[in-house]
Amino acid sequence: MNNAELWERAQRWIPGGVNSPVRSFQAVGSTPFFVEHGSGPYLTDVDGRRYTDYVLSWGPLILGHSHPAVTEALAEQLHAGTSYGAPTEAEVELAERMVRLVPSVEMVRMVNSGTEATMSALRLARAATGRDMVAKFSGCYHGHADAFLVAAGSGVATLGLPDSPGVPAATAAQTAVLPFNDLSAVEELLAQRGSEIAAIFVEPVVGNSGLIPPLPGFLEGLRTLTSQHGVLLVFDEVMTGFRVALGGAQERYGVMPDLTTLGKVIGGGLPVGAFGGAAELMKRVAPSGSVYQAGTLSGNPLATAAGIAQLKYLEENDPFDALAAAAARLADGLVDALRTAGFPATGRSVGSMWGIFFHEGPVDSFEDAQQADTEAFSRFHAAALERGVFLAPSPYEVGFVSTAHTPEVVDETLAVFREAALAVSGSTEESQHN
Ligand SMILES: *Cc1c(COP(=O)(O)O)cnc(C)c1O
Repeated sequence: MNNAELWERAQRWIPGGVNSPVRSFQAVGSTPFFVEHGSGPYLTDVDGRRYTDYVLSWGPLILGHSHPAVTEALAEQLHAGTSYGAPTEAEVELAERMVRLVPSVEMVRMVNSGTEATMSALRLARAATGRDMVAKFSGCYHGHADAFLVAAGSGVATLGLPDSPGVPAATAAQTAVLPFNDLSAVEELLAQRGSEIAAIFVEPVVGNSGLIPPLPGFLEGLRTLTSQHGVLLVFDEVMTGFRVALGGAQERYGVMPDLTTLGKVIGGGLPVGAFGGAAELMKRVAPSGSVYQAGTLSGNPLATAAGIAQLKYLEENDPFDALAAAAARLADGLVDALRTAGFPATGRSVGSMWGIFFHEGPVDSFEDAQQADTEAFSRFHAAALERGVFLAPSPYEVGFVSTAHTPEVVDETLAVFREAALAVSGSTEESQHN
């Protein structure tokens, strides 16, 4: 079946044709391709078209598609069984690796997704502090649990309104939303309601409203303010973990959170999440403590094997300089290409994450990101895809690179960016003349 036929069929049986909304290409006014296979930096669709992939399953595939280290570990485990519901040595090894690599983590619990990791970390934070409220930053995504699905309000700290029907107003009212990179807003909220707040969750480098790094002093300030008010600081490193540095954003910026959530890279492309922190806190989790958290497939042997394979490769081969160089060239090269074609553009990279906005910048918050030209992004996205480069189909996502994105692959992509930018600026002029 080809892309068009599968899209027809998918929409009949699956809401919106996809199993996660952003895959639908709705944000760029288009329709998705259906993958036939992935290899290294490339995806091939059912129509036989090949794309250089900068989505990489939305982050997990830091070694690219079908890396032998991962597929061999999976093949080996496959013949020994897919799930036991009883502990394995591999779970212990993965926990040890995560504790060794992520500076603030002394003990860790595996779950099956980033969403589970953040909702479990929130329960633990509430239990440990005896407080119910939580604060987050607008434009930060922490999975789809009720407590985190709240929209940003304008101004300083606004109490959240549900972002989706089905989120009880009473739940959303427990979530305060703050502007990212704005310490005075944090200070004000904590001065007013600090004693009610269990935790502040943050993506230490925002990757879910485009790429927005923390301004100098922001994470340090969060650490100081939360400590002063007995509020737990939670770094959601589901995306940044093992991506912005081997030890995540906490290693890169030298700021230690109380709890850390992980996912994506630690599963090597299989469904995984984890949360961890100081042993004293983590010992509150059942069965050593009373904070309930469980999972039929948690610590699944296949996911664990793939995760260990990726982390081991990263530790042994230290590809972070090469990854960062590739990401920086892509961000700088795309900004150049867009400006040359007459578009306003700004872009950055942090480790193996990179992103651009159709906006002069600076972009330091979700509110800034929303000023960007999303319509121009959509046209550029289509022009790049047509030329074989797959960027995330939304202006509020980042690009990823893997070890398979060699300098030659990046060169080819930069040539496509230049061509696509000119093609899109040409079509702008045409449409203005029409
Ligand atoms: C992807 C992501 C999540 C959610 O993880 P899922 O595995 O999709 O549930 C949570 N937080 C951040 C920062 C993410 O990037």
